[in-house]
Amino acid sequence: MADSMESKLLSEKIGRPIICKLCGGIMVYKGVGEYQCEECGSMDYDDYGKVRNYLERHRGANVASISIATGVPRKVIRDMIKENRFEVIEDRGGYIRCEICGVNISSGRLCWKCEEAYHREVEAKIRAAKKRNISIYGEIARSEQGSKRYTRGQ
Ligand SMILES: [Zn+2]
Ligand SMILES: [Zn+2]
Repeated sequence: MADSMESKLLSEKIGRPIICKLCGGIMVYKGVGEYQCEECGSMDYDDYGKVRNYLERHRGANVASISIATGVPRKVIRDMIKENRFEVIEDRGGYIRCEICGVNISSGRLCWKCEEAYHREVEAKIRAAKKRNISIYGEIARSEQGSKRYTRGQ
């Protein structure tokens, strides 16, 4: 069980700030796609946070213009819409339930309580990995840099 949890956590790290670009500290989840470095306090957003912020200012924007403005790949945006992650796009009616505890939510996959608990777990894993200085840490840092380079080159 521990193994599958770990690989699940690692597989979901793409597109999310894990390590502070400025000081290498751990980025702590603050809610709705927002993260803050626990060392220097700088803020960053994951792909969801970037798209969400953009949609709050540009309701009804299409995928192409969201992608250009945020740097998030179109496929990632389409997947997020498919998962019904944005109230602003949601127009299908009905209720969604939190995948973990089952309460009704208006968008996304988890209620804010479960989402926060989930991120705390991710942070604890990174913190532990960082302490032990094992390869997971280096792999995350490398894949983060790789995805940044890819985004800029588009
Ligand atoms: Zn920092
Ligand atoms: Zn929940």
